Amino acid sequence: MSANPFIESEDQEQLRATARAVIARHAPQRDVRIWDEEGSYPEHLYREIAKLGWYDIVADDEPLDGMAGLLIALCEEVGRASSDLVALLNLNISGIRDLIRWGTLEQQEKYAEPVLRGDGRFSIAVSEPDVGSDAASVATTAERVEGGWLLNGQKTYCEGAGIPGTVMELFAKTGDSGRKRDDLAVFLVPSDHPGVEIRRMPALGRNISGIYEVFLHDVLVPDEALLGEPGQGWQILKERLVLERIMISSGFLGSVGQVLDMTVEYASEREQFGKTISSYQGVTLPLAEMFVRKDAARCAVQRSAAFFDAGLPCETESTMAKFLCGQIYAEASALAVQLQGAYGYVRDHTLPMHHSDGIIARVVAGPPSVQLNFIARSMGLRGN
Ligand SMILES: Cc1cc2nc3c(=O)[nH]c(=O)nc-3n(C[C@H](O)[C@H](O)[C@H](O)COP(=O)(O)OP(=O)(O)OC[C@H]3O[C@@H](n4cnc5c(N)ncnc54)[C@H](O)[C@@H]3O)c2cc1C
Repeated sequence: MSANPFIESEDQEQLRATARAVIARHAPQRDVRIWDEEGSYPEHLYREIAKLGWYDIVADDEPLDGMAGLLIALCEEVGRASSDLVALLNLNISGIRDLIRWGTLEQQEKYAEPVLRGDGRFSIAVSEPDVGSDAASVATTAERVEGGWLLNGQKTYCEGAGIPGTVMELFAKTGDSGRKRDDLAVFLVPSDHPGVEIRRMPALGRNISGIYEVFLHDVLVPDEALLGEPGQGWQILKERLVLERIMISSGFLGSVGQVLDMTVEYASEREQFGKTISSYQGVTLPLAEMFVRKDAARCAVQRSAAFFDAGLPCETESTMAKFLCGQIYAEASALAVQLQGAYGYVRDHTLPMHHSDGIIARVVAGPPSVQLNFIARSMGLRGN
């Protein structure tokens, strides 16, 4: 990142330009609409991403200078095509980073190398039927047995977990010490491992990655499936989430930019009562306001990335950025559908996809009220 977080460095500009060209070639709007409708995974796109070395941004032992700054430029461009494509990119980037930070060399070779080559993928499995925002309450168990660990339980809403070649970072408790966070551990579990059963959950959006239920019946995994130490699961999750929030927030901004551009174009062409609808302030002012709010949210993302790259704590800043960007994606896509009238509602373009994906942008990586609780605590407000 340049010395000024609001002015892009040459590296950021170059990466952004490359990403824009790659997305135009490998993920044009027409194709994205079809992937979303059919629920199909564009393997060729992620192979290309691996070939271009985008995953290498996080693959060094020493964090690359300006890493978060590069990632926000990348995610914003991919987000113009689809926030769901960003989600899949984030799962791989965050997975590689977890392996670099917490894994052994053998684990990096076995689990991260295939993703870096474009042959493999990562997903994350924390949520369960009775565990959502209260992630430390995971009920899935990991029992130490001869030859490794025995996993039992059920996971829900695991994005992309059923795509072939996926390895899940699966959270389980290794004991019952009474301090839930101290009992958590992460296991690297291929989704086709014996005993693992995966089912797709039909959903309103996020149809490219798909969300999945995972059933674990006496799943025996070897010792080397454990990432870090037993008891380090909470720390792994907490540290991962900071950069993850920054990346997905930037992806949401890209989607907002795309939705606004589509609506400006439509409003400039559509004529009613003898004039283009862009002549009416009822159309232009809400768009202008959304543009202002998007720009403010962008500053929040850039600041978080700058803090991250400077090695400063930014849990609160990244939470605020995610809160703003999730909110604005939901609102901008709803506004766009309204302003494009009936045309906004038909599946001739990607707007219906953005609307469905925008609704859930508020919830993924933490619902608004849970994020506001955290922000309130950072202000010194102590609730229950
Ligand atoms: C598209 C999508 C992709 C996902 N991908 C994954 C994935 O890959 N892996 C994974 O493990 N999970 C995934 N999830 C699950 C996601 O992490 C959860 O949705 C999220 O943690 C919130 O949990 P919940 O949906 O169960 O809501 P709950 O936690 O049950 O919350 C329901 C409502 O109660 C409110 N609430 C809860 N607690 C409080 C509180 N303390 N104060 C005030 N309000 C509160 C919330 O704001 C929310 O409105 C995904 C979800 C979606 C929709």
